[in-house]
Amino acid sequence: MIITIDKNIKSEDYISLEHIINDKGLFLKEVDSEHFLVTGDTYKFDEQSILVLPGVISVTRLKPTYHLVSRDAHPWDTVIKVKNVSIGDGSLTFMCGPCSVNSEEEIKRIASGVKEAGATVLRGGAYKPRTSPYFFQGLGSEALDYLKKAGDEYDLPVVSEIVDSKDLELYEKYVDIIQVGARNMQNYELLKKLGSTKKPILLKRGPSATIDELLMSAEYILKAGNPNVILCERGIRTFEKLERYTLDLSSVVILKKITHLPVIVDPSHAVGNYNFVNQMAMAAIASGADGVMIEVHDHPVESISDAFQAYKLSKLKNLIEKGKQIKEIIK
Ligand code: PEP
Ligand code: MN
Repeated sequence: MIITIDKNIKSEDYISLEHIINDKGLFLKEVDSEHFLVTGDTYKFDEQSILVLPGVISVTRLKPTYHLVSRDAHPWDTVIKVKNVSIGDGSLTFMCGPCSVNSEEEIKRIASGVKEAGATVLRGGAYKPRTSPYFFQGLGSEALDYLKKAGDEYDLPVVSEIVDSKDLELYEKYVDIIQVGARNMQNYELLKKLGSTKKPILLKRGPSATIDELLMSAEYILKAGNPNVILCERGIRTFEKLERYTLDLSSVVILKKITHLPVIVDPSHAVGNYNFVNQMAMAAIASGADGVMIEVHDHPVESISDAFQAYKLSKLKNLIEKGKQIKEIIK
């Protein structure tokens, strides 16, 4: 609900308006000097009861979809600070690392390589949501420990996917950004729990989710109290069989227009083929993404999961440098 108030509202009228809103268990958030967003369960009251108050010009009930993630309510870009990295501030974020953390030695080696290449965040899966129960499921908490050690050693914030809300305490201790994978984008109980943490959340788009559905999932996290959400386009399922998923880059331009949250793109899971990762990463940056997430490995044949899409670590520096050049061109 958006309340438009008279610029010259008397301060006692404004204070009384705020009290009335707060008494209903709701909150007033300033958008600009004339527009205020009412947050909370606004369906519990009738807008007419606000409209009659002195200084109130109009009350507009927003569609019951997303409010907090929308630029209407928050016109300026959200910038997420994690360790010494800012995501969404106009710079490019490169989240790079293996699909899964397979050993302490391996993740340290890869962390050193991605740091050297210019990556800003280290990725690595600990609990892997795999299509088949017979595929490698990840090393779990052991992997989180290795990932944190590697991140600390090379001064890189780390991102890893959570699959069960009971692990939240563990993630709060070990990771800097908590990833919600594509398969869990609509796990609303998990999203609500993630509203209680201060850690940034990387929310991946579900393979069959619309842009609106992605935004509503993000809204769950913001509504539950955590404003630090980064959206990730990682491809959607279409009729096309020659790519793992179809990388929907139109979503990036649309998302950047309607939400203030940072948007990053994962070309690796979309194309599913190391040969095409570079071009699609460049296209993602050209489309205005705030960064890319790339699965890399120094010896791709040794990857236990997603080996075919693992980008060669030795080529990462070049990808990052070219990506930065593209960013300069589109500025
Ligand atoms: C991942 O990033 O490790 C992953 C499993 O990706 P997605 O959830 O997009 O399939
Ligand atoms: Mn993977």
